[in-house]
Amino acid sequence: MTGYINKIFVVTISLFLFACGINEQIAHTDIQQTNGLFTQAFVDNNQLIVNTTEEIYLRFEYFQRIDGEDKYLGWSVKEKSDEFTINLPCKNINSQYYIKVRAENEKAFQDTVFFFYSSNTNYSFLEMHFIDVEQGDAIYIKTPENNNIIIDGGYGTRGNNSTDWQGFGQPLALNYINEQNIDHFDYIIETHHHADHYGGLNDIKNSGNYTWDYDLSNSNTYNYHVGDLINLKSDVQFRILSIGYPPAYNQDNLNNTSIVLKVNYGYADYLLTGDAEGAVQTFMIQNPWSLSADLFKVSHHGSSSNSTCNSTFLDAIFTKYTKIGIISFGTNNSYGHPKALYRFANDYIFGTGTPPTSSPYPNHYFNCGTIKTYSDGQAIIVNIE
Ligand SMILES: [Zn+2]
Repeated sequence: MTGYINKIFVVTISLFLFACGINEQIAHTDIQQTNGLFTQAFVDNNQLIVNTTEEIYLRFEYFQRIDGEDKYLGWSVKEKSDEFTINLPCKNINSQYYIKVRAENEKAFQDTVFFFYSSNTNYSFLEMHFIDVEQGDAIYIKTPENNNIIIDGGYGTRGNNSTDWQGFGQPLALNYINEQNIDHFDYIIETHHHADHYGGLNDIKNSGNYTWDYDLSNSNTYNYHVGDLINLKSDVQFRILSIGYPPAYNQDNLNNTSIVLKVNYGYADYLLTGDAEGAVQTFMIQNPWSLSADLFKVSHHGSSSNSTCNSTFLDAIFTKYTKIGIISFGTNNSYGHPKALYRFANDYIFGTGTPPTSSPYPNHYFNCGTIKTYSDGQAIIVNIE
């Protein structure tokens, strides 16, 4: 990442203003062709249209200006083409918000186009943080309306087991949440009752630092069923795609009781599956709700089980251009997670830990620690710094 950033140079100069809605304005720099890669680039009807002389990659880097300083938000995945049409994040853009579009051919980054958006008041993103809890899952979500949700919490302090990879005895999720400047959760969600998911939730609930409206798990349902939306006053939708149903799948395997959520914000979709394995994945494919998502929290820590994340399931998820998989696992875990990397050969994979053997696939990033993502309702921005 750092090496890439060092290569950035801004090549554009002049500024134009475009009306982009009743109270919204978008400003962007003019695009100049400096090395022959671009044949044209312009903004039309809230879309950026770029044509290039050859197939290249475009990569988008996002910055937000807060109190006069540029905060690096992260980047969205590269796209390879010779013609790009990109929806610009005009809706609800209320702050100074930058996107650097960087062009790359097979050899190196060749060019940078610099965009600048501005308006008057503060803008918020949908944030989804995949907290590094070593072996386990913990996801913190903050909506643009400041709803706070935590889904699972890793092992936490529920034991003093000496196996470091499990994060046992360490309140990793609580420590992370304590840094978020919040004191209330709209939802605390336990996907299923395995210790690498509920342990750290108990740390949060027992800390005395937080209140919450709903504590949702398979042991205390609030009359939620498959297909229901969870109750939030938000532009972000959370739909339940599985909640321990159908019971026949659950008898021998708690993983298959996992509460599965599809999260939608504008054009951005996320699929959070807990540890749901093949039987539940088949069940969800047969249901009427779309599994299509830009970001998939890979089931069961990237387990190697034959039926988990098979190609039929991944084809139902990855129907869009953006194919991001997040794998939450502990380095040197005794299960050998994640073994099923070959299933994601063509996708962007981000892992909290380091896998047992290095991945041969170009867009796989491991040992990321906590992985933060942001969405403006258009792109999903990944921050692994
Ligand atoms: Zn698990």
